[in-house]
Amino acid sequence: MKRFLAELADDFVSLIYPHYCDGCQSALVKGEDILCTQCLSDLPRTDMHLDANNTLMTRMGGRIPIVAAAAFLRFRKKGKVQRLLHALKYRNRPEIGFRLGYVYGCDLASSGFSNNFDVIVPVPLHAARLRTRGYNQAEEWGRGLAESTGIPLDSGIIRRLRNTKTQTNRNRIDRWENVSEVFAVVDAQRVQGKSVLLVDDVVTTGATLEACGQVLLNAGCSRLGIACIAVAQ
Ligand SMILES: [Zn+2]
Repeated sequence: MKRFLAELADDFVSLIYPHYCDGCQSALVKGEDILCTQCLSDLPRTDMHLDANNTLMTRMGGRIPIVAAAAFLRFRKKGKVQRLLHALKYRNRPEIGFRLGYVYGCDLASSGFSNNFDVIVPVPLHAARLRTRGYNQAEEWGRGLAESTGIPLDSGIIRRLRNTKTQTNRNRIDRWENVSEVFAVVDAQRVQGKSVLLVDDVVTTGATLEACGQVLLNAGCSRLGIACIAVAQ
C-alpha cells in the first residue's frame, strides 16, 4: 500500500511537472529517465567494448600498458552527445553522467568487459573546480557504471594537485609535461595488486588518462583499463 501510494504520488508529480528528454525535449513516459527510448537507441554507440583491438585501445595502448579500453559514444561537434556532455559538465546535471554510466555498465557487464576489475576510479577534479561545479562529472559516470556492473567505486584514490589550464593550442609534448605532475595517489594500499578501471568523460588527447593511469601503475595497480563516455573522432 505504501509503495502504491508512493508511485501514485510520483505519477501525480510527473503529471504536473513532466520530465523532458535531454535528447529531443519530448515528455518522458514512465520508466524513461533522462533520455527517451528513441534517443537512447539512437545514441551513436562505438561498441568498442566488443572489440579488444579498438581504435582507443590502439591509441592509448601505445602510450601506457592497459588491458582494455572503451568509450561509450562517438563525440561530434554540435551533435546530441556534445549537448548531453555540455549539460553534464556546465549546467548542473550530474544525473546525466549517472544515467549514461548505468546504461553502458549494463553493456560492459553483459559482454564480460567489466569482469575482473576490482575497483572503478574516476579521473579527479581539482578541489577548487569541484567546489565551484559541486560534483565531478567523471565520478557521476563512474557511479552509474558501478551501479550496473556491481564493481565498487573509489573516488578518493587519486588527487589532482593542479588545475591544468586549457590545452587547446599546445602540442602533445607540452601537454604531457603539463599533466605529468598533476596527479598523485593518496593511499597506495587501496591500489596495490588491484585491477583498476579508470573512467573519465571525454577522451580528446588522452594525456589526462595517460598521466592518471601512470600514477596508478606506479602505485602498484596490477591491471589498468579505461572506460569513457565519449571519444572525439
Ligand atoms: Zn528523446
